[in-house]
Amino acid sequence: MKTMSSNHAILRTLPRVDDVLQCIAGGHDIPRTVLVDAIRETLSEARAEITTQKIMSEHTLQGIAARALVLAHSKTTPTLRPVINATGIPLHTNLGRAPMAEQVAEHVKQIAQSYSSLEYDLQTGKRGSRTGGIEQLLTSLTGAQAACIVNNNAAAVLLALSALCQNREVVVSRGELVEIGGSFRVPDVISQGGATLHEVGTSNKTHAQDYRHAVSHLTAALLKVHTSNYKITGFTSEVEMRELTNIAREMNVLSIYDLGSGSFVSFAGEPTVQQAIADGADIICFSGDKLLGGSQCGIILGGAEHIAKLHAHPLYRALRADKLTLAALEATLLMYRDIDHAKSQVPSLVMLHACPTALKEKAARLHEKLPPHLNAELTKTTTQAGGGSLPMMDFDSWAVAIRPSGNCTATQLEEQLRSTSIPIIARIQKNQLLLDVRCINESDFAYITAACDGM
Ligand SMILES: *Cc1c(COP(=O)(O)O)cnc(C)c1O
Repeated sequence: MKTMSSNHAILRTLPRVDDVLQCIAGGHDIPRTVLVDAIRETLSEARAEITTQKIMSEHTLQGIAARALVLAHSKTTPTLRPVINATGIPLHTNLGRAPMAEQVAEHVKQIAQSYSSLEYDLQTGKRGSRTGGIEQLLTSLTGAQAACIVNNNAAAVLLALSALCQNREVVVSRGELVEIGGSFRVPDVISQGGATLHEVGTSNKTHAQDYRHAVSHLTAALLKVHTSNYKITGFTSEVEMRELTNIAREMNVLSIYDLGSGSFVSFAGEPTVQQAIADGADIICFSGDKLLGGSQCGIILGGAEHIAKLHAHPLYRALRADKLTLAALEATLLMYRDIDHAKSQVPSLVMLHACPTALKEKAARLHEKLPPHLNAELTKTTTQAGGGSLPMMDFDSWAVAIRPSGNCTATQLEEQLRSTSIPIIARIQKNQLLLDVRCINESDFAYITAACDGM
């Protein structure tokens, strides 16, 4: 009873909303309604703290005002904001996959801030095609007959199956019934597309005969799926795309290839988009923001009559990409007019091709700037491409390793860097904090140094 009544006494000392509001007035441009909400929320937290006797901070007018202001600031700051990628993983899905080149971002900004020729033909002054120009660019870069662009690769595969395989069977190897991050599961996408999955082969071995035996009058397509995020090794065999397209043609069904990370540049024997087209696939699907280094979208390439069916399908309208995505994609594709230019300008390609010697020198430049009390040292690291791309490829990279001293742990350091205004996302390895320089802009070194200085 005694605590109850003393709680009541403390509760009565809490400031009123108006007093707190007056205390925070001026010096910021936070709307009044947001401030009032934040003050109410802070006061109700304070009340809960008093009744449960878990006081988190001072309940004076100034204390409450300071807390409410921090809360109001967080309510007016976007939750989606830039971070510094110190993980060394260029296509980190959680960090937004491929960053855009400056000239691409500049073009997106222009399109965003003004009217554009999105569906207007500047030659005739009449209504124009929304994606015709970009589709032409795609076909000339890849050798495909026709192209179609949707929101992401999951949408691309769903549209292809819905438009070309509905109410019929799709034959897939048991070794390729994969799940890609974020719940894209091949069997589920097939059923969502209105088709029936016909599994063939085993998890480690599937042969040409397996596909041949599976084809019947019910079959619409043979689907090959790039096992993007894992690899089966050992006693294995799979049917390569060229052979699969031959079987499909011979048996008069379609061949569809979900390439996942479609790349125009070859990486250690991974199939390129151009190769998949040359191999004769009727339809290929891939992401715009994995190895291609463009915006989040799904690109479908293939024969003109098949692509026409996709454009005419009702799902296409629901899945079509918006103008900012299209602007970024087109500006990125223009860089691929010259492959060497793309390799030196598309940020994700630059990061993936960065050589270890140059990375070591880059890490040394960061190391030099860091305060000596951090006991930082250079260390060799291995990273991956990310985004489910190139699963078997390890990339040698370099990092600055900070070994915490005193009673500060690596976890605390990691949290501290993550809570700065431009969060720095680093990883911990063997109780060291690693700042891998592969994906860090050198212009961010000063910011990182300042953030580390306070540790
Ligand atoms: C990444 C991936 C997808 C999904 O692509 P999103 O662009 O993320 O929708 C589908 N299939 C494969 C094989 C992939 O690697």
